[in-house]
Amino acid sequence: MIEIEKVRKSFGQLEVLKGIDLTVKNGEVVTIIGGSGSGKSTLLTCINGLEPIDSGSIKVDGQDVHDKRTNLNKLREKIGIVFQQWNAFPHLTVLENVTLAPRKVLKMSKAEAEEIAVRQLRHVGLGEKLSTYPGRLSGGQQQRMAIARALAMSPEYMLFDEVTSALDPQLVGEVLDTLRMLASEGMTMICVTHEMKFAREVSDRVAFFHKGVMAEIAPPEELFGAPKTAELQQFLAATH
Ligand code: ADP
Ligand code: MG
Repeated sequence: MIEIEKVRKSFGQLEVLKGIDLTVKNGEVVTIIGGSGSGKSTLLTCINGLEPIDSGSIKVDGQDVHDKRTNLNKLREKIGIVFQQWNAFPHLTVLENVTLAPRKVLKMSKAEAEEIAVRQLRHVGLGEKLSTYPGRLSGGQQQRMAIARALAMSPEYMLFDEVTSALDPQLVGEVLDTLRMLASEGMTMICVTHEMKFAREVSDRVAFFHKGVMAEIAPPEELFGAPKTAELQQFLAATH
């Protein structure tokens, strides 16, 4: 379970998160929508401890991410994160890229790491690309490789930050299909996305961020069907 309570965070004078409360239960899929600069990415980086918070708390499986006594590296192994773009090592094959973290961080043997990496690459539909170099993959394949790389660490939670935003429109579908598959397998996920149709289909709940505030959160049919705030109504009108 991920428990976010009263989280505030500023960059200098700019308050980016103004008291965020959100609990994500195991197996739940929560998508976050909202305008650019509303604090969506910042929240994800605070959840896995990449950024400190000013006040409030974030707990993952009861462990406080921002408590100095928490072994953050250990906790981070539970939380996979995939960004808009991930720069794979160009001189390593797809398989080598995916085995890197399990070998270095989890100290797996080469054989063990490869077994897991092959399984995850097949899972995302890249079983034929093991010995290909990343530069020869399409954008959609590169994002699926990034997802396989995160999954190879056997995370309990996955955070996705606009993983389809940098893709050509015809490649978006294959990446969303991979996320749909993970959701249907019961992965606990927080997905920041601009894909409203996807958010509507896969989410247990959708959160709307506006200027650092979680202005609304509800199951998709309710959030999209009957938006309560003027801000969400405007946002949805602009995305249609
Ligand atoms: P979103 O993902 O919703 O577009 P972000 O969380 O990336 O929004 O950013 C929220 C605000 O915080 C923006 O105004 C952005 O410019 C600012 N911001 C994000 N990261 C930093 C940083 N490392 N230093 C200073 N300002 C930042
Ligand atoms: Mg962002």
